[in-house]
Amino acid sequence: MGIVDIVQFRDLKKQYAILKGEIDKSIRDVCTDACFISGQLVNDLEEQLAKYVGVKHCISCANGTDALQLALMTWNISSGDVVFVPDFTFFSSGEVVAAVGAIPVFVDIDPKTFNMSPEALEEAISVIQKEGITPRAVIAVDLFGQPAEYDRIKEICQTHELLLLEDGAQGFGGMIDGKKACSFGDISTTSFFPAKPLGCYGDGGAIFTDNDEWADLLRSYRIHGKGSDKYDNVRVGMNSRLDTIQAAILQVKFRHFEEEIKACQKAADLYERFLCDNNDIVTPKIISGYRSSWAQYTVLAENGSKREQLMQRLRDGGVPTMIYYRKPMHMQKAFAPLKVITECHNTELICERCLSLPMGPYIEDDDIKSICDTING
Ligand SMILES: *Cc1c(COP(=O)(O)O)cnc(C)c1O
Repeated sequence: MGIVDIVQFRDLKKQYAILKGEIDKSIRDVCTDACFISGQLVNDLEEQLAKYVGVKHCISCANGTDALQLALMTWNISSGDVVFVPDFTFFSSGEVVAAVGAIPVFVDIDPKTFNMSPEALEEAISVIQKEGITPRAVIAVDLFGQPAEYDRIKEICQTHELLLLEDGAQGFGGMIDGKKACSFGDISTTSFFPAKPLGCYGDGGAIFTDNDEWADLLRSYRIHGKGSDKYDNVRVGMNSRLDTIQAAILQVKFRHFEEEIKACQKAADLYERFLCDNNDIVTPKIISGYRSSWAQYTVLAENGSKREQLMQRLRDGGVPTMIYYRKPMHMQKAFAPLKVITECHNTELICERCLSLPMGPYIEDDDIKSICDTING
């Protein structure tokens, strides 16, 4: 007999059970119309999302990885260009840089926010400049739902004439002083992978920008580098569209999105209340004035072996946990040909200590209580 989980890591089944009537209807409507790729529904969703984020253009696409790559293509970032990427993130953030032939240079994080450290970024820039290289861009990631420190990162980008790409795959719905995530980059991107804060029922993604020229290029690159139409091809692009069924599901979920973020915040507050007296655990902290969309609730154990013990204890109690992320980007085999040029000690330590707990808008207070009881022993 396997152990039965008392709680889901992210409860998508419960979300569907609650939204089933609305979601089933929108899927049926798409099937009835038999318009499965692009169309008015996708355009409407793009408009709604652009309005929510507070930017001029939203360009939907097939997934969050393509969204990042399309942004780099739009900026003509290619062979030999240097792009800074946080060392602690999902593989995509660095993969896209290498995919266009450019060089990702990994930057250490601030252990308090898990996001790119502005000081480490400045240091990495000066190291690169000493090599006689002019870097092109910074990819800042809103890890676990908290926006990166954009006031400082933007200033650094302006000083050094670097383009800023916000990877908001986990950050959609986050805010800094009332300004929404996916509005901080020169271009910003998100993912609608099912477990992300705003998820569809397959793959999906979107790109946000205020720049008209880039928006036109993005719309071209995502459909085979189209010119006047799909059969007039003026550049080499990709096939990266959002399915109409996914847009229909997203429209329903988007109507409930703000309530869901508030529910996640309530869950995070409850975790904090039950765990704040436990000196063996560091709970996540959100910078004052910031809002997290709580893509993950990630705590730190004292060290690697304490984390393994804690994971085991939770597993025995039927509580699923995940390690986001076990390996710094600079230690991924795929990046092995790269020369590591900056120290990333914080990332190395965090990778050994981090543990993500069950989170989501539909997690029950009693479940959080029982998870915390298990943690507190
Ligand atoms: C999920 C994720 C991506 C990629 O999104 P996909 O839709 O899975 O391609 C990129 N960056 C970060 C930080 C992510 O968490």
